Amino acid sequence: MLVYSLPGTFETREAHLDLLWEAGATGLEERAGLIRAYFDTETELPAEIRDGQWQDEAEQDWLAAFKATLRPVRAGRITIVPPWLRAEVEAGQVPLIIEPGMAFGTGHHATTRMAVEALGELDLAGLRVLDVGTGSGVLAIAGALLGAEQVLGVDIDPITIPIAVENAQDNGVPEGRAVFVQGTLGDELPGDWNEPSDVLVANLYAELHDLLAGDYAAHLRPGGPLVLTGILTGKLALVRAALEREGFTAVQVREDGEWALVTATA
Ligand code: SAM
Repeated sequence: MLVYSLPGTFETREAHLDLLWEAGATGLEERAGLIRAYFDTETELPAEIRDGQWQDEAEQDWLAAFKATLRPVRAGRITIVPPWLRAEVEAGQVPLIIEPGMAFGTGHHATTRMAVEALGELDLAGLRVLDVGTGSGVLAIAGALLGAEQVLGVDIDPITIPIAVENAQDNGVPEGRAVFVQGTLGDELPGDWNEPSDVLVANLYAELHDLLAGDYAAHLRPGGPLVLTGILTGKLALVRAALEREGFTAVQVREDGEWALVTATA
């Protein structure tokens, strides 16, 4: 990318901007006291604007730069990794592969990490796990990798569904075992998912947990574990009150910085 930088701002050099366009600039930008003009080729410029400098700047691939910063994330028995770091998962850890993309849930947020950890502490063998606000599908997929027989991920955002389906495939979770649908609690859910599930996990936010607490109770079998996160520690009281209102027991809280995770029993 060829850039011609000259001292000044759009305001101080207003009269010269047209000269840059006429010389063939494809774009102009003002940054830190410099006007940066983008060109396809180096060009002879009029005298008034010859006080600048030509630079050939390497194209920055921001996505590649971001990807290079990613590290495996250990969450209890599971290590969440992007596909290219699969080989870095330590022996004995269950790898959970998530392609970083448009949907929330790469494992790099404390809430995702705490929820995966909490799921890993449950014996999910043969159980049905409902994941509300599935995003990348990370929690539902964690459930399947930890032995759940069936998992359902629901999300109101339609872009998340194909992403979660692909992530489940990348982790070798068979299509019938992990189902992802657009929607939320209160909607008609597929198959027998309107019946209470064995475990319910939701990484949303405190106000939404308050609104959905009644639905959580309706979608969990008696004695079923509830795992809630996305809760700022300052809003824990709201979630505690909602759980008490809906008859949940054994409420426990763990914190990571400003984020909290709450477990309870239906
Ligand atoms: N489960 C993933 C994780 O733990 O990393 C993603 C959690 S992300 C913080 C919250 C997700 O919930 C988003 O994908 C958002 O679209 C979805 N969401 C927000 N409100 C919802 C609702 N009322 N019902 C279902 N999903 C919802």
